[in-house]
Amino acid sequence: MMPAMDPRTLTLRAFQKHIFDRYEKVDRRRGTPKTFLWFIEEIGELATALHGDDHANLQEEFADVLAWLCTLANINNVDLADAVAKKYLGPKPPKGHK
Ligand SMILES: [Mg+2]
Repeated sequence: MMPAMDPRTLTLRAFQKHIFDRYEKVDRRRGTPKTFLWFIEEIGELATALHGDDHANLQEEFADVLAWLCTLANINNVDLADAVAKKYLGPKPPKGHK
């Protein structure tokens, strides 16, 4: 059994791999269009949580959005850590806009 990941040392790459290891088969079968709908549904839940005052729920919805973003990246062969590093951590990060 895999040891639980420690949030203090968790990396984006490790989390994306965790989502891949657990869900990749079913995620690929579902495909990008339906997965994108799930992702947008989670964005909607996050929007609702941002309007509310339940911080535990807000945390949960941020987690869901990140998990579904990892799923979308996995089934489209995108390594999020590489993508983030390339765009935001290089010599010319975007200034004033994303
Ligand atoms: Mg949710």
